[in-house]
Amino acid sequence: MPESGVKALSHEDILSYEEILRIVRCLARLGISRIKVTGGEPLIRRDVTQLIGKLKAIEGIEKVTLTTNGTHLAEFIEELARVKINGINLSLDTLDAEVYEKITKKDQFNSVYEGFLRAASFPDIKLKINCVPMGMPEQNLIKVVGLAKKYHVHVRFIEMMPIGLGKDFSFQSEAEIIKELEQAYGKLVPYEEKLGSGPCHYYSIENFKGKIGFISAISHKFCGSCNRIRLTADGYLKTCLQYDTGANLKRIIRSGGSDQDLEKAILQAIQEKPGEHSFTEENVAGGETKSMFQIGG
Ligand code: SF4
Repeated sequence: MPESGVKALSHEDILSYEEILRIVRCLARLGISRIKVTGGEPLIRRDVTQLIGKLKAIEGIEKVTLTTNGTHLAEFIEELARVKINGINLSLDTLDAEVYEKITKKDQFNSVYEGFLRAASFPDIKLKINCVPMGMPEQNLIKVVGLAKKYHVHVRFIEMMPIGLGKDFSFQSEAEIIKELEQAYGKLVPYEEKLGSGPCHYYSIENFKGKIGFISAISHKFCGSCNRIRLTADGYLKTCLQYDTGANLKRIIRSGGSDQDLEKAILQAIQEKPGEHSFTEENVAGGETKSMFQIGG
């Protein structure tokens, strides 16, 4: 998020929960079975746990998970457990409170860590830590990985993507991180079984309760197996992170379109989904100009 803050969208600009549920019912009829509620930060939207409960009740939806920055997680975890959230991805780039503040510009590490500890105490909620290495030694990735030794959580490293403010950060490769971790913890052994439905690949470390994962969109491009589409808060069905291609579903709904109209637009957008990103190229035609927090990365 930019330090100067962001321009707030009005209630009119964003989809209502009824509109989101209607779109998800269409998606479920077309065969989508897993939903991740992301952001911005989803836990700041009022009654989001009710939305999650209703998403879970839609026929055909098998799993609903959440990505959060964790600042409100402690307060919502009981409610999330009550609506039977299947999993939580918690963004946590360091375990050092001062470095956390340097990265996020917020003095909120203690609230986030409390949220982590509370969430880790619910065995039915699959908890994953998402950490974005920024090439800052003080992030202390070895300490972050230590969470997977002590708790049943998977720690995943997500390569910085050159979108929005991400363009200004330095890049730390998977190979460099593995080398650093092996010096501290011993061999990282590739874990062949599938964990989750995303593009993450995992490693085991002896005597660790959780696995170590890497989502390396730049150095290990996985577009060929990409099965994700994103629905932005303002109702745009976005079919690839890098491009602005997709379908304006809010416009269809608010101009009186039927469910069949929505499904047709969704199918067409998916059929036109770009084959792969070209993040390493400059000035790609149709390239996304919004930031990650606006598109639910
Ligand atoms: S860049 Fe686009 S196609 Fe590639 S993995 Fe991301 S969303 Fe999928």
